[in-house]
Amino acid sequence: MNSLLVKNIIVDGKLSSIYCEDGHIAEIGVEKDADEVFDGQGCIAHPPFLNSHTHASMTLFRGNGDDLPLMEWLQTRVWPYEKQISFDEIYWGGKLAMVEMIRSGITFFADMYWNFHAVAKGVEEMGMRACLSAVFIDFDNAEVARQQKEANERLLHESKEYSNCISFAVGPHAIYTVNQDSFRWAAEFTREHDLILHTHLSETGHEVKECLEKHGCTPVEYLESLGCISNRFMAAHTVHLTEKDIRILGENRVMCMHNPVSNMKLAVGGVYPYRKLKAAGAIPSIATDGAGSNNNLDILEEMKIAALLQKHHDNDPTSLSAKEAVEMATIHPAGFFNLDCGTIHKGGLADFILINSGHAEMNPMFDLNSHLVYAANSQVVDSVVCDGKLLMRHRTIEGEEEIIAKANEASASMYKRIDG
Ligand SMILES: [Zn+2]
Repeated sequence: MNSLLVKNIIVDGKLSSIYCEDGHIAEIGVEKDADEVFDGQGCIAHPPFLNSHTHASMTLFRGNGDDLPLMEWLQTRVWPYEKQISFDEIYWGGKLAMVEMIRSGITFFADMYWNFHAVAKGVEEMGMRACLSAVFIDFDNAEVARQQKEANERLLHESKEYSNCISFAVGPHAIYTVNQDSFRWAAEFTREHDLILHTHLSETGHEVKECLEKHGCTPVEYLESLGCISNRFMAAHTVHLTEKDIRILGENRVMCMHNPVSNMKLAVGGVYPYRKLKAAGAIPSIATDGAGSNNNLDILEEMKIAALLQKHHDNDPTSLSAKEAVEMATIHPAGFFNLDCGTIHKGGLADFILINSGHAEMNPMFDLNSHLVYAANSQVVDSVVCDGKLLMRHRTIEGEEEIIAKANEASASMYKRIDG
């Protein structure tokens, strides 16, 4: 039995403590003997943040391929390198991302990348939770598609070797990189095994135009016709949507991930229709996307930019409130992934973070949501607990220096090997 007592913290406005046992919150406000006792130094306990769409290992590409359109960026600065990227490079790039995410209070992320095991190994070592998909791209080549299906079948089986902090999802990249038959297969395979299906959808006007020309319908209608859309379906971006698309996504309780920084950086020519998606019944979340198109994984920054973008776009300061922004990075994705960490309560997962309200920008304190979204940066995240274990203690993460050094080496060796 593993136990942790975090004392001297504010829970629901009162000085209190949280006692964790075997990965769950066993007591709030009751101090018991524990394997480890941690002094929270008056910090505020808060539910952890969940990053619902990223490509963690793309930290290796950070800052090398900026200021380009999406397709040119992918074709010249990403795919040629990803074709030859090694296990170790993905592993160290992933761990660098995990350090960065933990530092901004993220305990869980939904990833799409090339080597499931390289990222899964890192997740277990860092003590986080993740829903990992091995990206599926076939470029409409039947032989590649066959290999990808086989790889996913094998990975589902192999994913069971890991702890229950890791779940497997199927991640067909997008409708322009994955053929119709593969999407149909992904729909059936995920239905049969009750898995999440994670893709990029309706990100640019070009994607929609091409789909209309090729299939005579929008990307959302196209994936619906292939059986992909259900309450296990999660779609990144969902920027260019028709009223009918929004109805389909809402009726099926699809999680639609808002990635405002990536969208603006790549100038996708539209804005995620937050209010309409929410009103239709879709599950809105906020995510960073990968470091190649962001270029950081700071969820506090992402919440601020999401709120500002929606207000500016709707010409309405009441659009996407601070409370809603926090919910989009906590309770909404927690519900979608069936993780009992959207609020701090007895019996829930022992996943929470400590916020240091002593920073100048956190004072005076009228409303914590307001400060987290509009005033703070991730420096205010003091400590992070996941599965009853401390991943960050007063801003210190074990092994951080080595991870940064190894990730730098991995990035340099990747570019050297491929560029010559
Ligand atoms: Zn993405």
